[in-house]
Amino acid sequence: MKTIILGAGLSGISTAYFLQEEKGFDDITLLEMESTPGGLCRSIKKNGYIYDIGPHILFSKDKEMLELMLSVLDEGKNDLVRSNQILYKGIKVQYPFENDLSKLPKDDLHYCINAFNHNPYENYNATNMIQFFLKTFGEGITNTYLRPYNEKIWKYDPAFMNTSMVDRIPKPTEEEIRRSAAGETIQGYLHQLYFSFPTKGGIEAVPNGFLRRLDKNKCKVVTDSKVTKIEKKNDVYYVTAGEKTYEADLVISTIPVQALTSAYKDATEELKEKVADLRYNSIIISFVKLPYDLCGENFAFMIPDKNVIFHRISKMDFLGDEYHHSKEEATYMIEVTYRKNDQVDTMSEEDFKKAIKDGLVTIGFAKDEKDVEFIDITKYQYAYVIYDLNHTSNMEFIRDFYNKEGIILNGRFGNFEYWNMDRILRESLELKNRIVENVGEK
Ligand SMILES: Cc1cc2nc3c(=O)[nH]c(=O)nc-3n(C[C@H](O)[C@H](O)[C@H](O)COP(=O)(O)OP(=O)(O)OC[C@H]3O[C@@H](n4cnc5c(N)ncnc54)[C@H](O)[C@@H]3O)c2cc1C
Repeated sequence: MKTIILGAGLSGISTAYFLQEEKGFDDITLLEMESTPGGLCRSIKKNGYIYDIGPHILFSKDKEMLELMLSVLDEGKNDLVRSNQILYKGIKVQYPFENDLSKLPKDDLHYCINAFNHNPYENYNATNMIQFFLKTFGEGITNTYLRPYNEKIWKYDPAFMNTSMVDRIPKPTEEEIRRSAAGETIQGYLHQLYFSFPTKGGIEAVPNGFLRRLDKNKCKVVTDSKVTKIEKKNDVYYVTAGEKTYEADLVISTIPVQALTSAYKDATEELKEKVADLRYNSIIISFVKLPYDLCGENFAFMIPDKNVIFHRISKMDFLGDEYHHSKEEATYMIEVTYRKNDQVDTMSEEDFKKAIKDGLVTIGFAKDEKDVEFIDITKYQYAYVIYDLNHTSNMEFIRDFYNKEGIILNGRFGNFEYWNMDRILRESLELKNRIVENVGEK
């Protein structure tokens, strides 16, 4: 069966990896628009430094997929313990916020405990993200941290987002809040307390590990090939990428559903409207160097303060020797989300750099803005799926449309779901099982 996979990010690569083992799948072509495969799991190499598109770490509750990811790291892994902080009014509060409340200024601490213990929202049914926070954590923790941080990262009012992102967050017990307020730092979200990172090559070592395991006789990865047109005639798909048109019996799309829809010849007006109504965030990744380390032995810091342009800053040196160049300096990956034409997107590069430098001084990582050296600044269009209140109905329509056309959707933006790498692998494996079952039935 001639199979074409659109996109060679982790989703496209892992789908090919699983499918190649099955009878009849010995002619798989992956079409990728960039010059290197890997998608959001690529690692950027510049001036001898290596860093990812946002801090990617390897952890999962899905032990089978985690083991699989780790098993393809031919050059090994570093095993690390999370050391993440929230910078609240200049104070380091250990992540997750609700487990380290005693660090808060007295008034804020009292507000958080009192609102948690006497929570009028507790028994309501939460229908959006902000209601979930109020119900689960009370007004204090919501207003001091969760609301401002989420508004900052999403650039979208959480009152207009559904609860898909948050409904698995555990509600702390009264006992835990009491202990956390009394000065005990309780470790929370244990599934990500311990994580791994490739010893060499950044997170890209994961897709590269799978790429090395693709059978060259069965799978071909074609880079610099942007898919621009897809046409279906008599059950055969004609996929145009670059100068070439490929024929296929089966098309699996892992490219953003927006890109698929603009290429799909028979896309209806209604489909286009639903796709245009999907919300997502883009991201600017800045990589900077400072001639000293004022951050300490920590990895990531969440910054709810709206006067600082970035929402998260991660010290790459934390990830291992390969990522740590000299004892004297520190290198940081800084994340700023944006959407097309918003205030961040329309900023000049000079103003943007100034805002990053000001932020570094404000949080105490830079003594002077002159100390900040920019190594890179890059924009990535598709970073985060926003679960706005129309997401579910829009995606139901879109999936149904492509299902009828026989095009299979997979991947973070292919399926428009907030999926991490472990989930991507699980979905690719399950997709392979469904495809094999269907082919067997025919
Ligand atoms: C800031 C950030 C931090 C993250 N941190 C973690 C983490 O700590 N742990 C974790 O497990 N996961 C993390 N993730 C998630 C992880 O990056 C994704 O789950 C994974 O990379 C998604 O893979 P994908 O193949 O579905 O999508 P993508 O990587 O987006 O791949 C899609 C591919 O399609 C290509 N493409 C697009 N349009 C076309 C076209 N028209 N023609 C041809 N090719 C096209 C793209 O170039 C790309 O290669 C993070 C993501 C972000 C954004």
